[in-house]
Amino acid sequence: MKFEEFDITPEIKKSLEELGFKKPTDIQFKSIPPILKGEDVLAIAQTGTGKTAAFAIPIIHIVHEQKGRTHDGIKAVVMVPTHELAIQITEVFNTIGQYTGVKTFSLYGGVDQAPQIKQFEEGVDILVTTPGRMFDLMSQGHIKLDRVEVLVLDEADHMMDLGFIKDIQDVIKRLPKNRQTLFFSATINDKIKKIAYSLVRNAIRIQISPKDPVSKNIHHSVAFVEMEDKRFFLERVINENADKKILVFVRTKVRAERVMSALERMGIHSMTIHSDKEQQDRLDVMRRFRSGEVKILIATDISARGIDIANVDYVVNYDLPDVSENYVHRVGRTGRGVQKGQAISFCSEEEKDMLHEIESFLEQTIKVLEIHKGDYSQTIDLTNEKHTDWKTLMKEIQKHDEDPKKKKKKK
Ligand code: ADP
Ligand code: MG
Repeated sequence: MKFEEFDITPEIKKSLEELGFKKPTDIQFKSIPPILKGEDVLAIAQTGTGKTAAFAIPIIHIVHEQKGRTHDGIKAVVMVPTHELAIQITEVFNTIGQYTGVKTFSLYGGVDQAPQIKQFEEGVDILVTTPGRMFDLMSQGHIKLDRVEVLVLDEADHMMDLGFIKDIQDVIKRLPKNRQTLFFSATINDKIKKIAYSLVRNAIRIQISPKDPVSKNIHHSVAFVEMEDKRFFLERVINENADKKILVFVRTKVRAERVMSALERMGIHSMTIHSDKEQQDRLDVMRRFRSGEVKILIATDISARGIDIANVDYVVNYDLPDVSENYVHRVGRTGRGVQKGQAISFCSEEEKDMLHEIESFLEQTIKVLEIHKGDYSQTIDLTNEKHTDWKTLMKEIQKHDEDPKKKKKKK
């Protein structure tokens, strides 16, 4: 099957060819036809399998076909959890839709809203947005939704989870009743599935759920490392993979900053991304990691959901995630498209229960990377860490512990 055989406009086929997309991925093959027919879809497919284009291609086609009716109101809304993802998905729409007249715009909070409002006045066909800012502008009457025909929730399980569900329900209440609804994600559980069904009128038509939620392009393993030794093992992974792009996941924002400081003491330059950072900062960090200017990025779970960065060779779970699903999303930042990737998790004694939870979610055990005793102590002995005196170390820890509180007080 080739894209050529799909009933989509030549303008889209041309850009797919330029993108080097030779044939549709499984999820694209299975979801494009029903979306074109107007059906509701719940699509579950592994990370990095091209879910974005699976909804972007038919949506651009549908909007493009309404010739003469472009720019007369928003036709499709794509809701995503983060600003970074909104920008990334908008880029996919703009690239695939570059030879059509379809206009896609991304909307997110944390920046001035005046220029965004101006965009709506000029006409937007497809809106990619985080729920919060969309809800704000909608309440102020700047966004009209009476023409919306398609609603997409990307990272759907995360979107329907507690933090977002209220905003989403409020947005949905204002959408036309006869719209088409599409859910896309790499993971879903029964609770979320129920919520999904409650949000749509028509029965959901398809689900492509792989047996193994971890993409086969990812080689993943776990190493048993004590909490206080983790930084030395990270140092080793980084040094053994010089010039490789490495994404490191930690449990909290405070830990992200701490790991960065620890790496700094070892002479390794890294950056962090998490929700305590200013929006501009976050975009800057992403840009520098994408371009490869900085090779080590330390992230929390949310900030990396759905992010598609080429050539991330290695994912390190410095801490295990609190939620099993996030294991899949974290390791899924590597091995995207046809690329292969590596992932390793550092599991300390106190994290073993979590490891079992993750394994039962995956319905498989994770390969254990055996570290021999001698090798373990060598890793610690060979560190380049400059031994900081206790006073400085305590000060550093205190600084990171206090920062978030200080910020809150200021507000
Ligand atoms: P997902 O949302 O499933 O995690 P993305 O939509 O971010 O995955 O796509 C992952 C990568 O695969 C992207 O870099 C994208 O350009 C690439 N890709 C998508 N569809 C195709 C295709 N049909 N052929 C080749 N590469 C593709
Ligand atoms: Mg995606």
